[in-house]
Amino acid sequence: MNMKKHSQNNSTDIKKTTKNNLPTIAIIGNPNVGKTTLFNVLTGSQRHVGNWPGVTVEKKWGMLKHSKKKYQVVDLPGVYNLSSISPEEVIAHTYLIRDKPAIVIDVVDSTNLERNLYLALELREMGINTIIALNMIDVANDKRIEINIKKLEERLGIPLIPIVAKTGRNISQLINVIEENINKKQIPLRIKYPKIIESKLEMVGKKLAKRCAASKKDLRWLSVYLLLGDTPVLKAMECDLNKLVSYVDNENNKEVNYIIKVSDARYGFIRSLIIESVKRDIKTRKMFSDILDKIVLNKWLSIPIFLIVMYLVYFFAFDLSAPLGDLISSAMDYVSMITLQYLPGLLGLLFAQGIFPGVGNVLVFIPTIYILFLVLGILEDFGYMSRAAFIADRLMSKIGLHGKAFISFILGFGCNVPAIMSTRSIGDKNERLLTILVNPLIPCSARILIFIFIASIFFSGQMAGIVILSLVLTGVGLAMGMSYLFSKTILKKKSMGFIIELPMYQTPSLKTVTLYAWDKTKRFIVKAGTIILLSSIVIWGLMVYPSEQNSFLMMLGKLIQPIFAPLGFDWKLSVALLTGFAAKEIVISTLGVLFASGSQMAISTALKSAFPSIFHVYGFLVFTLVYTPCLATVAIIKQETGKWKWALFTIAYSFVLAWILAYLVIYLGPVVVKLI
Ligand code: GDP
Ligand code: MG
Repeated sequence: MNMKKHSQNNSTDIKKTTKNNLPTIAIIGNPNVGKTTLFNVLTGSQRHVGNWPGVTVEKKWGMLKHSKKKYQVVDLPGVYNLSSISPEEVIAHTYLIRDKPAIVIDVVDSTNLERNLYLALELREMGINTIIALNMIDVANDKRIEINIKKLEERLGIPLIPIVAKTGRNISQLINVIEENINKKQIPLRIKYPKIIESKLEMVGKKLAKRCAASKKDLRWLSVYLLLGDTPVLKAMECDLNKLVSYVDNENNKEVNYIIKVSDARYGFIRSLIIESVKRDIKTRKMFSDILDKIVLNKWLSIPIFLIVMYLVYFFAFDLSAPLGDLISSAMDYVSMITLQYLPGLLGLLFAQGIFPGVGNVLVFIPTIYILFLVLGILEDFGYMSRAAFIADRLMSKIGLHGKAFISFILGFGCNVPAIMSTRSIGDKNERLLTILVNPLIPCSARILIFIFIASIFFSGQMAGIVILSLVLTGVGLAMGMSYLFSKTILKKKSMGFIIELPMYQTPSLKTVTLYAWDKTKRFIVKAGTIILLSSIVIWGLMVYPSEQNSFLMMLGKLIQPIFAPLGFDWKLSVALLTGFAAKEIVISTLGVLFASGSQMAISTALKSAFPSIFHVYGFLVFTLVYTPCLATVAIIKQETGKWKWALFTIAYSFVLAWILAYLVIYLGPVVVKLI
């Protein structure tokens, strides 16, 4: 798994965050080691626990009450170390330095000490008052990993408490140790670095002493970070950075990779610890994982299996949830009907035609989003998602996309909203943004419905099928093409390489995945919900004022019609496209209202007279495929990228692209056909 995470907020901008004068217990540790689970156990809160990267990116607060004493507990973002490469690392490191928690609990995955102890070692080098919670001892036992706790405590010089955060095992002992050790002073652990580093540290230390208000105890570790060029840490210590950094830059021997030398020394220390104190068995689970991977990652089988799994995800998320969605929308229809009966006048109309359908538009997404993330959560917890990303990466990386983008493409055929939400698992910020920006080009089911509706009016059976398929393929091709284009232009990326770690398979935890799915759903309801609801009301207002026969929406349609005139679309078609901005499904109902009402003609006959030629029909379909995504999608783009800029950008580029493509179809189409 890529270790960079996307952070929505500008989280590197850190202010002192202590809220009150209670002693603070900070929970730190690698991602997915059970920090949030422990946080919940300690504070009794219901924070979301998850197995996906990017779940805890900000600090979270809670309260621990124990034998009449109160503590403030903070859940820090998951980090592998305290360098300043990712925002999470900066948050965590700066927090430790500025806020000086009374005690730090380093949560460690007992089954992966090699990697987890790196952070522990950094904390020890800083002399931060730390205790280690050896979490997932249950799993370690299953894997027959034996850890000599006494020995580790001796070598690290701090307490280690084996716990199972998930079941609460040994938590009371942990709390006792916390209380015994709160505000304890620790002597920093001194690691012997190679000579070349040691001599540098000495020099750098002297400079530092003059420019930092740091105590002697802090000088050594500060020198290490300075040597490695970790400026945010020095900023947090309020060092005078100006001359320091350039001094180190000039002095550093360009031939020597200091980062590697330092981390090698640390890993060497950890390895010696582990050899002394950990006994492990090659366990059956590893065997099982290896065998399963032989099949899942097999040259011939991997892609068919991948496609089947993707199909199942799609099936569960969209087909299985459809009846529930239908139920919700008929319930809303019913409520609207009742309201109209009992609440006469404009207020009734506002509710029946504006608010309830608006709420319904939000609610119908809920079953899909919940089930989708439930299924994805299960696959992730099981260990398949990283394999899927691995398999898809080859294909996707050619167009600048992450392997995980494939999943969002598939989901896009159902609905772009959950598809865009699913990009949260993509670690690299640029790759994620790219995936989000091109996703709306994948035709969602609502747009496919429009294709079916119109194609079946204008084309005969088989031809209609070909037209629909060609549109779907065009959408996919455009998504890939635009992605390639963006990755070469506005989203040029520093090549990060694709680091993926294939965890061992495990039985998914029901609690993890249900909480995960609910968290996603809640996020959708709160954020996207408000935008969708508000704009539904606005659009309703535009539709009924000043009168339904001559509404603002119609005026607007006539106003914007000149934009569509070169494409040969009349004002009615323009209005239909305009309302499609609210939700693409509405295009059909608008066409219905505008073309069928007031006339005896069937809608198909009326529509046929609206298009000058068959090329205009296809142009209209291409336009519908590409143009401005619906409100829910725009809302979710804003939510997921954190910026209106990207939502507006998507609106703009897709509109322009749609217009150009439709124009080409309408004017080049006849020429091409003649040539053939
Ligand atoms: P965080 O990323 O460090 O906050 O990790 P979470 O608290 O989100 O937990 C990650 C996963 O590990 C979840 O599926 C938890 O249910 C699971 N987990 C947490 N503690 C334990 C434990 O002691 N044993 C086992 N087997 N699983 C645990
Ligand atoms: Mg967490």
